[in-house]
Amino acid sequence: MTLQVVVVGGGYAGVMAANRLAGRSTGALEVVLVNDRPEFVERIRLHEHAAGTRALPTVPYARLLHPGVRLEVGRAVRIDADGRRLVLADRELGFDHLVYAAGSVGRGATQGAAEELEIGTAEPAARAHAAVAALPPGAAVLVRGAGHTGIELAAELRQRRADLAVHLLARDGVGRVLGPRGGQVAEARLRRLGVTVHHDERTLPPVDLTLRTVGFTGATLAADSGLPVDDAGRLLVGGDLRVPGYPYVVGAGDGVHVTGPAGAHLRMGCAMALPLGAHAADVVLAMVAGRPPQRLDAGFVLQCVSLGRGDGIIQLVRPDDSARSVRLRGRPAAAVKELVCRSTLWSLAGEARRPGSFRWAAGPRELARR
Ligand SMILES: Cc1cc2nc3c(=O)[nH]c(=O)nc-3n(C[C@H](O)[C@H](O)[C@H](O)COP(=O)(O)OP(=O)(O)OC[C@H]3O[C@@H](n4cnc5c(N)ncnc54)[C@H](O)[C@@H]3O)c2cc1C
Repeated sequence: MTLQVVVVGGGYAGVMAANRLAGRSTGALEVVLVNDRPEFVERIRLHEHAAGTRALPTVPYARLLHPGVRLEVGRAVRIDADGRRLVLADRELGFDHLVYAAGSVGRGATQGAAEELEIGTAEPAARAHAAVAALPPGAAVLVRGAGHTGIELAAELRQRRADLAVHLLARDGVGRVLGPRGGQVAEARLRRLGVTVHHDERTLPPVDLTLRTVGFTGATLAADSGLPVDDAGRLLVGGDLRVPGYPYVVGAGDGVHVTGPAGAHLRMGCAMALPLGAHAADVVLAMVAGRPPQRLDAGFVLQCVSLGRGDGIIQLVRPDDSARSVRLRGRPAAAVKELVCRSTLWSLAGEARRPGSFRWAAGPRELARR
């Protein structure tokens, strides 16, 4: 009997999961990928789009998906976990197993002042792109939030539109996640590019446009379905990525919060969405084969920040994401960052061609001992 697996969300985690499932199940599974857009969005390049460096970064699914994955374009409105049905606006899909990979959205999408735009997903980023393009020479832009995305957006704007005054509000410091030294390096590079960095809201001048980059919240689908979520709306899953009480619902990517030691060091990011997607597929495959699923064991290797097209910072990190002393800067760092962005698509397409080929780094050593 063929079992039906529905993967909801065709981003980094969902495409990885769908490809691995289709490729490794040797016909035992029918794999359906549900996504609300007909094309894959490279979210990690949305700051480039917002600043005007490139068109909306989309990739046809035909270039990424295993031929055994059936794509259904439509927005899922509810998961009926008890009835094992995914409800879309105009149809329903039954499932034996569901992989929840609906990702995240920019916080500005639901919170904050109406005149502020954000760039967390495709449509808001396209609005930001249009607003930036409409700014006359000499206009001032404020980027609010100086994590990875804020740093990358401010640098990209400054490089692409040298005629604009670019301000960055870094209330908690620049690039804290890069560690104290990495953050200082990032701030110095931004200042050299001509970005004015503010640490205090009161020093801000009047600006013509504000772009928010203050973090992500989980997609709303899990909460809308009455499934257990954390404060950021992320689906709560155990260390084996299964939802307690609904073992046939498995989660991956930004939209899930992995509870317990397996997830304590994890943060949202494409760097984790790929391993989580692959592990979610392995968990489903184990259940189908009647084997106990393994606990997630995934760690970080690098943090990569672009500073426009010709500069960047590559920070080596420990598996728990804490900074090591080694970092790369300048053009070589920009080249590595570009390679890392491209490698995400290579990993997805590679998993379609060679099922099971995607590998990832192990998590912190204490994890293995617990
Ligand atoms: C500007 C920017 C730069 C970034 N740079 C980096 C970086 O350098 N490194 C890094 O690690 N991370 C980076 N990130 C974060 C990274 O993009 C996310 O962590 C990653 O996209 C998460 O992958 P995902 O598969 O979980 O979710 P997503 O990529 O968001 O995919 C989720 C998919 O589900 C779809 N979907 C959502 N709800 C529904 C629904 N109800 N029905 C149907 N479909 C639905 C969405 O349209 C989307 O296609 C960046 C993000 C941004 C915005």
